Amino acid sequence: MILKKGRLKCVHGGSYQVRKVKSENRYHCQSCRRKFSLFLATWLKSIKISLSDFIILLHLWKNEYSVKQTTELTNLSVPTIRRYFALFRTNIVKSVEFIAQNNVQVDEAYFGRFKKRANYFHGQRTYNIQDKTCVAGIGCPSTGMLATKVIRAKPGIPIKQFICQQVPTNVHVYSDGSPIYTNLRYDYFHTSRTHDLGFHNAYYIESCWSWMKRKLFKQYHHFHRKNAESYVSELTWRFNIRNSTNTALDYIKNSL
Ligand SMILES: [Zn+2]
Repeated sequence: MILKKGRLKCVHGGSYQVRKVKSENRYHCQSCRRKFSLFLATWLKSIKISLSDFIILLHLWKNEYSVKQTTELTNLSVPTIRRYFALFRTNIVKSVEFIAQNNVQVDEAYFGRFKKRANYFHGQRTYNIQDKTCVAGIGCPSTGMLATKVIRAKPGIPIKQFICQQVPTNVHVYSDGSPIYTNLRYDYFHTSRTHDLGFHNAYYIESCWSWMKRKLFKQYHHFHRKNAESYVSELTWRFNIRNSTNTALDYIKNSL
């Protein structure tokens, strides 16, 4: 997978005069006289656990096992598992290209940390979300795809720019009655309606949000505001590949 049907060559200089070092799992270049391992030029170079453990971790991560469940199934520590999950998140999650057809639905959602609050009113325990992160989303019911973007600034102009980047102008845009989307009528054939008129325009994107929030809660519970981009892109990737039958090794192959 790493060589991609080519010959093994030196990572440093590109020379083909390489020999395997007998005692180690490394190669020696006769041209620049330096040693290198097969993984040195790829993101796999930071693997410090055995390869079988690595494949097991990747498989568990792909199948939405939480860190706690993974500690029960492997002999690895919690920081190690978190480190490898973060490694997968940055390297394997490549944003799948969003394709819009016929119509799309746009909406925004707020993701954040849950914190248990004191029981002030002796009623039900309440959760309030702290450090909320605004995420803009475009869902296409025809292709079953989702595109998201974390919005750090005041929502409004960035969300509109994001929609203009992702959606061609011949596509019908549906949204709720939020004032963020009223300007879209200049560029698109746009229908905006409030939720309480009976017919629900943004049903598909709303179900995408609940899908993402359920998966986030199941595997990680929450994320911190500073890590929002990586987690949101992972959840979007998981949504877009939900029907694919690729194995863990296929994802390594695609990421190299
Ligand atoms: Zn060399």
